[in-house]
Amino acid sequence: MDNVLHYAKKLAADVLPADGIAIDATTGNGHDTVFLARLASNGKVYSFDIQKQALDSCREKLAQEQLQAELIHDGHEHAEKYVEEEGVHVVMFNLGYLPGGPKDVTTHADSTIGALTFFLEKLLPGGRIILVVYHGHEEGKAEKEELLPFLQSLPQHAYQVLQYGFINQKNDPPFICAIEKRRRWKG
Ligand code: SAM
Repeated sequence: MDNVLHYAKKLAADVLPADGIAIDATTGNGHDTVFLARLASNGKVYSFDIQKQALDSCREKLAQEQLQAELIHDGHEHAEKYVEEEGVHVVMFNLGYLPGGPKDVTTHADSTIGALTFFLEKLLPGGRIILVVYHGHEEGKAEKEELLPFLQSLPQHAYQVLQYGFINQKNDPPFICAIEKRRRWKG
């Protein structure tokens, strides 16, 4: 069985063509941005973070492989100011705080759901939004408590919503929520 981070990547790779549009909503150390930029080598990748140190670390990783992405020093809840394309293939969120960074700079339910609302509109039919949810810290728990009902409320005729995680692991292991926009709406 794939671990959570592996499976998140698989879900993205399945639907992102080389000329596709992808968004890393939480740059962090840049691993997902690099992964998306490799896949969408003739497309476009946007990457958002509110911490400059995250973007700097990502920029370095991209340069090492001569990959391109637009790094944006702003919250994903403001994505509508930056994303010009009509439709996007993939959006990845890795919620929580920057590994090795300040633990009080973390994602929050209101901005995460605000960004999701915009990305759901932008998502192409067959496109996916993939979230890795970390709920082992206080803010992460609160975020999960608001996020799950929001995802559960998405209309079934328009979206498929998946949850993937290991239920016998200790210490609140992260899990995936993934949303796919249906190609043909089921009435
Ligand atoms: N995917 C990353 C990687 O590969 O290393 C890990 C991401 S880390 C768990 C979460 C990141 O989200 C942190 O770097 C944090 O600064 C960022 N973040 C928090 N709130 C944000 C917001 N509103 N918009 C964009 N990024 C945010």
